Amino acid sequence: MCGKGEVTVDNKVITRPMVWKTYIVPLIIIALSFILAGYFIISSISTFLFENMAKNSIAQAENHMSRLSNSISAINVIDQLLEEKLMTANTAILNNRDKLSNNFLKGMARDLGVDEIYWYNPQGEIVYTATKYIGWKATKGHPVHDFMHSDRDVLIEDIRRDTESDRYLKYAYAKVPSGEFVQTGILADNIYELTKDFCTASFIETLVDSENVLAAYFIDAGEDILFCEGEIDREYTLDDMEKEAMEGDRTYYAKKTYNNMDAYEILLPIHVDGTNIGMLIVFYSLEETNRLIKNVSLIVLALLIFVFLSYSYMRVDIGRKNREIEELAYLDSITQLPNRSYFIKFLKKRLKAERWAKKALLIVHCHNLNLIKLIFGHDILNELLLEKADCLRNLRVEGEHLFRYFEGNFFIYIEDYEDREQLIKKSDQILEKLDEVAQSMENSRLITTRIGVLELDESYENVDDVIKHVEITIDRLKRLENESYWIFDEAMHRELILDQIIEKELRRATFDGYDDEFYLVYQPQIDLETNKIIALEALARWNNEELGMVSPLRFIRVAESSQLIVPLGEWILTQACKFMRSLEDRGISGIKVAVNISIVQLLREDFTKQLLKIVEETGIEPENLELEITESNFIGNYEIINRKLDKLRKMGISISLDDFGTGYSSLARLEKLNIDVLKIDKSFIDNIRSSDQEDVLIRSIILLANQLGLRVVAEGVETHEQKEYLAAEACDIVQGYLFSKPVPEKKAVELIEKINLRDMDARP
Ligand code: C2E
Ligand code: CA
Ligand code: CA
Repeated sequence: MCGKGEVTVDNKVITRPMVWKTYIVPLIIIALSFILAGYFIISSISTFLFENMAKNSIAQAENHMSRLSNSISAINVIDQLLEEKLMTANTAILNNRDKLSNNFLKGMARDLGVDEIYWYNPQGEIVYTATKYIGWKATKGHPVHDFMHSDRDVLIEDIRRDTESDRYLKYAYAKVPSGEFVQTGILADNIYELTKDFCTASFIETLVDSENVLAAYFIDAGEDILFCEGEIDREYTLDDMEKEAMEGDRTYYAKKTYNNMDAYEILLPIHVDGTNIGMLIVFYSLEETNRLIKNVSLIVLALLIFVFLSYSYMRVDIGRKNREIEELAYLDSITQLPNRSYFIKFLKKRLKAERWAKKALLIVHCHNLNLIKLIFGHDILNELLLEKADCLRNLRVEGEHLFRYFEGNFFIYIEDYEDREQLIKKSDQILEKLDEVAQSMENSRLITTRIGVLELDESYENVDDVIKHVEITIDRLKRLENESYWIFDEAMHRELILDQIIEKELRRATFDGYDDEFYLVYQPQIDLETNKIIALEALARWNNEELGMVSPLRFIRVAESSQLIVPLGEWILTQACKFMRSLEDRGISGIKVAVNISIVQLLREDFTKQLLKIVEETGIEPENLELEITESNFIGNYEIINRKLDKLRKMGISISLDDFGTGYSSLARLEKLNIDVLKIDKSFIDNIRSSDQEDVLIRSIILLANQLGLRVVAEGVETHEQKEYLAAEACDIVQGYLFSKPVPEKKAVELIEKINLRDMDARP
């Protein structure tokens, strides 16, 4: 038993090949471009921040450097002044050494502007002083002791703290040959305080104190570290690049690791009075910059992720909406199976991609759908169709694809099968299963299923070829009598070629004129009440020199598909009207002639005009002309056709709806259709007495037609039984082999004269 299948299984047919293409590939590309963009943005931001920091650090270091070099110059100037003063004082004291006394030195100190003067004996003991410390003696290691024992005559010391007074002083010494010497000193507390700020060491100290400096070195021209502050690396040696910068007397900077920390090293040459006195090396911490870069990168990353996610969401959302639209366009609403449009799209791809693979279509055709619709209505029909679809869905195996082509035609697409035998076996299985299910469902039995097998070998290059053969196969399936499947094979191919020849011949005949090979035959319609001929249906015949007699079903189909039906139909109409004229001329009146009109003709804008012209030219009574049209092609043109029919009826021409019951319109529509006659299709008549259902149907058709004031013609009446039944059901008119086959003009006239005038002759 076949259950309800999962709709989604078939949706996948539609969506599966698209997922990669629509989402994954574009999203991967977008993700990659975002990663790349992110990388570039972050690396340019970090480069910018580094450069910025380098610039700032260099500016800062240069600022320090200029302060350093200025301060060194300033100290030098002051120092020189003090030196000169002390030297002058020493010279003055040496020149007046004969006047030496404490008081004299006191006066000299005042006059010379120095703070301390001491006179030492050759043993280094103070003998005279301008202040105090008489008897003080320099001990070993003391600067005074060092000078005394040196072979120098003169010495000027750098400012230093005095060992006794603990104050800062600058001292100068001068020796005389006897070994006595003078020491003058100027208090330099203030100057020291002043210069201290400027001195290199303290400068470096303050430099290191500033926030982002890890360490600072001052290296003199001999590459000796003179001062250093911060986390000192005593082993510090210059690398080649640094040495080169130093020798080249230029600024150099680079990213480095300093004591396992990310740092930025800047080397700045220090100049004092135009000469290079060494190099200032500062290590700036990159911690702050790194943090900044990290934060900025995080923000950029977050932004990019946000944009990426928004974009992806939009993409997926749009994709989903597109898919919904696509599903609407590609899914059959009743069965939820991929529809005809999707089949065509699908097939196009397969024909291209799998040209050499073994491919086949199993065309499952459900017969009698119109009957079901007429009897039970739309809803039941749809229910039955869904049931068939579900059953097929469950029978389908992996790799097979199921479609609802249109109406009751389902396709199973199979690839890589073994041979035709396998397809036939599969078809049998399907038919068996469908039958099994149908037996268990009440109304399902009325639908008979047939399968057409169409193998798509490599000769099928495009979808049009396949569709053409599909249509032929379906057409064949419709007309099958006893068989339940049909294989499209070489014979069918030949048929198609024959169609092409027919078209060629039709075209030629259109140019040469139809008269030589085309003619009309007429089939009588009998009024059941009077048993007289009340109308004749004109039917076209073609006896072609090459092809022999060609079936009208066939050449009309070819003529319709090639539009050649327009000139041919016009010729047929003219012939029929000429015949009507000849009947009237013979004094036979009141016999209608019904001419079959193709929808292709009817849809032509100039159809009514053409018809009017023929009617006028032949001079017939329009009331005797009947046009037979088939409802199967109404779909989509219903309004236009109905308006045209109205116009024709107003001209007096009557309209007959041919093949009623085989099309797709319904009884409900009849009321609005501008027609006069209803022709019940032969298939209904064939089934008379074979099924009670059908009897009910014919009865209700006749009843409704009578109610609507329509005449009812039953066509294809072959047996007395059928005739009796129809007569009992108040069917007005019958047509069929039981009374007469379609006959040539002459014979038709004879029939009318024989049947209609029989009683007249008998009259007195
Ligand atoms: P149709 O209009 O339904 O014509 C009725 C067909 O049923 C005719 O076949 C007729 O010969 C056949 N028929 C009538 N009574 C019986 C019967 O008792 N038993 C059986 N088995 N058949 C019967 P025909 O002449 O072969 O025409 C076939 C179809 O070709 C027509 O079907 C019509 O659709 C088309 N056709 C024929 N002549 C023309 C024409 O001049 N113009 C157009 N547009 N179509 C035409
Ligand atoms: Ca007809
Ligand atoms: Ca018919």
